[in-house]
Amino acid sequence: EFVNLNDFVNHILNRFDMIVKTDKNKSHKKKYTINRELGSQALWVEIDTDKMMQVIDNIMNNAIKYSPDGGVITVRLTQNQNHVILSISDQGLGIPRKDLGKIFDRFYRVDKARSRAQGGTGLGLAIAKEIVEAHHGRIWADSSEGRGSTFYISLPYEPMTEEDDWDEV
Ligand code: ATP
Ligand code: MG
Repeated sequence: EFVNLNDFVNHILNRFDMIVKTDKNKSHKKKYTINRELGSQALWVEIDTDKMMQVIDNIMNNAIKYSPDGGVITVRLTQNQNHVILSISDQGLGIPRKDLGKIFDRFYRVDKARSRAQGGTGLGLAIAKEIVEAHHGRIWADSSEGRGSTFYISLPYEPMTEEDDWDEV
């Protein structure tokens, strides 16, 4: 399905703006702020919308889950000649450098005790990686322990040319 990635991401984030996340024991409502830097240009990409929504959902849920109360999550959309890059940054616990390459493995969770307290299976990012790679894209993370993490998704993108516009007439 062809979608404008800008609108698509906006819709997903609107939903997050309305949900108040509760922790495992439902005893504590976690607050967070989403900072959108999506630009206004339409970026048309062909994606499986259900699957790509699952990818963004997991990364957003991780950003919330592994951040203290009141964190800011910044979602940014940028583009170059042939890729769009979606980045999601949090101000959370961060990920040790030695674990950065492993978090996309099935069932891998940083610090079992810390992760168990949060709930989850450790499958989210492994599934995200499969989905993104099926779209011929890439997913990776950057992090600084104690300061936060950024997850990047890059997808192939072909800017619309004037020729394409003519084809539609
Ligand atoms: P699931 O997504 O299956 O419910 P999960 O969130 O533990 O469980 P993944 O989404 O695959 O699993 O993430 C793997 C591990 O990477 C997490 O357990 C956590 O240790 C680490 N991690 C992921 N995202 C972040 C983040 N934004 N900040 C800090 N650590 C993270
Ligand atoms: Mg997860």
